[in-house]
Amino acid sequence: MLVAKDKVVAIDYTLKDSDGQILDQSEAGQPLSYLHGAGMIIEGLEAALEGKVADDEVQVIVEPSDGYGEFEEELRQQVPRSEFADIEDLAVGMQFRVNAEDDEFLVVTVVDVNDEEVTVDGNHQLAGVTLHFDVKVREIRDATEEEIEHGHPHGPGGHEH
Ligand SMILES: [Zn+2]
Repeated sequence: MLVAKDKVVAIDYTLKDSDGQILDQSEAGQPLSYLHGAGMIIEGLEAALEGKVADDEVQVIVEPSDGYGEFEEELRQQVPRSEFADIEDLAVGMQFRVNAEDDEFLVVTVVDVNDEEVTVDGNHQLAGVTLHFDVKVREIRDATEEEIEHGHPHGPGGHEH
């Protein structure tokens, strides 16, 4: 069976940056299950897995523009501390949802706090990072109609309802 649209694929993966530092990885014996063609994983990775078979190993390098986006300086902003007056123990690393254009939300992370100002960053944590994936295909199966309808796999490693 080949990796293709509407297949549930289980993969072991390691994600590193360009310096070889591990950013994320699946636990040993607990592969990640995803529904192929549903946009659940990074597009460049999904494209590289197309047509693979179980036990294939794939190395993929995904540029920021095809990954979590370029780092945008203007998404890093300083706002008056008073805007966070009702937040207790405001600290670096806290995340907030803020209103953005077109009724959308932007998740911002506090990256600096002083007495007058708070610096928040709306970039994804991995924005500007070139992603190096090492992937091994573990298992491929047909998705059920329900899984296709939901847009995600069920069962071990998948979505639990
Ligand atoms: Zn579901």
